[in-house]
Amino acid sequence: MQDLYIYNTLTRKKEKFEPLSPPHVGLYVCGPTVYGDAHLGHSRPAITFDLLFRYLKHIGYRVRYVRNITDVGHLVNDADEGEDKIAKRAKVEKLEPMEVVQLYTNRYHQNMRQLNVLEPSIEPHASGHIIEQQIFAKKILDNGYAYVTNGSVYFDVEKYNKDYQYGKLSGRVLEDLKSDTRQLDGQGEKKNPFDFALWKKASPGHIMQWPSEWSTGFPGWHLECSVMSTKYLGEQFDIHGGGIDLLFPHHECEIAQSTAALGKESVRYWMHNNLITLNGQKMGKSLGNAISLDEFFSGKHKMLDKPYHPMTVRFFILQAHYRSTLDFSNEALQAAEKGLDRLFNGMETLENIKPSGKSTINVTELKEKCHKAMNDDLNSAMAIAHLSDGIRLINSIESGTGSINNNDLNELKELYQDFVFGIFGLYTPKVESKKDLSAKLIDMILNFRLDAKKNKDFQTSDNIRKTLNKFGIEIMDKKDGFEWKIK
Ligand code: ZN
Repeated sequence: MQDLYIYNTLTRKKEKFEPLSPPHVGLYVCGPTVYGDAHLGHSRPAITFDLLFRYLKHIGYRVRYVRNITDVGHLVNDADEGEDKIAKRAKVEKLEPMEVVQLYTNRYHQNMRQLNVLEPSIEPHASGHIIEQQIFAKKILDNGYAYVTNGSVYFDVEKYNKDYQYGKLSGRVLEDLKSDTRQLDGQGEKKNPFDFALWKKASPGHIMQWPSEWSTGFPGWHLECSVMSTKYLGEQFDIHGGGIDLLFPHHECEIAQSTAALGKESVRYWMHNNLITLNGQKMGKSLGNAISLDEFFSGKHKMLDKPYHPMTVRFFILQAHYRSTLDFSNEALQAAEKGLDRLFNGMETLENIKPSGKSTINVTELKEKCHKAMNDDLNSAMAIAHLSDGIRLINSIESGTGSINNNDLNELKELYQDFVFGIFGLYTPKVESKKDLSAKLIDMILNFRLDAKKNKDFQTSDNIRKTLNKFGIEIMDKKDGFEWKIK
């Protein structure tokens, strides 16, 4: 097993990753609130934690990866006021709230497939865990860290802070929060403006509500993640991830809730990916520059010069370390497109290289460098740089200024396949349509037939020809290979 170091946002340092019960790893990541199309901002946490998921598996761990779907309780503003995002969209589109949830969950999944993001092991919905959320809120109430006002249950931050420390993840201090938060309208129910809702009594006309002992209402947004993470991964688990925009208040509140209910902290390593900017500006619907992933892939947005393949987006994200900011622009994406082309061309060259003589490339060293980069807090940027250096050496072998022996060649091929396809989750954009794929498969089968003929295995060669004929594929044998066409 490799020694993996990850930056723990909670302790603010890189720590050696030591799971509670190896080889098992519990990983929880905050998923999307499904009330609209997935946009560029969704791609970074998805790809960052997909990279972590893939790498943990690569180095031998067995990972249970839970990524939730938020489909209730996420209000338009963070102060526990305003409409539910899903309900608001349902009203606008004249749909059932669960129709909105299904529609945008399907679209999110489609985008994730395009980005080659693996499916999590479990994808729980907040609306499917209402009872568990009520039980969890009850525990917090019983332990004295929450209070009921007018049918709503609020977390008592001040009380909690006396026994534990509120703000340890974000570095916020309650005294500062007190002076920072203005008493907003409609917060009369709360003892303090920084208290947050565990359960909200539904106002008349609110279309998503469930019965509870306090009122007919709905759970507060932060509660679902405390509940679903501990339900599926245990009261204590290894890694919790998400975008840095969720660090406060969402993750801070999660820590407080879990500690107040369970008497201990649940999460051992907190990991946060940094945000994406667009032409140097923060992205947001209100800023008018939120580009959906569909618009990226189709090029249909006024800020885009052209469509960008999902693999270009993925490669661009992997080319930066997940904790650094990342600025999207047409120029940067087109540079990434070229870089990815170069990588895939190099891998194609590698496939065609013939081994001979002594190796002018140190494959073991290259492999170690790639792992070392990934073990240093998932530095995919550095690992990609090493693989690019490797491409230069591969090209030198192809042009005859270098050479490689058979063993090293096989190891080098395996290294590139492991990292590029397996860990980075990149696939060759060239093979994207089913038609392209069929053509590649037919070529592959005919190459097997060519090998069979060379080995004088005429029966196999004949069988392949006959079977392909049955599928309507005509094969023309040529002096140096073959051609084929669909009859
Ligand atoms: Zn969450």
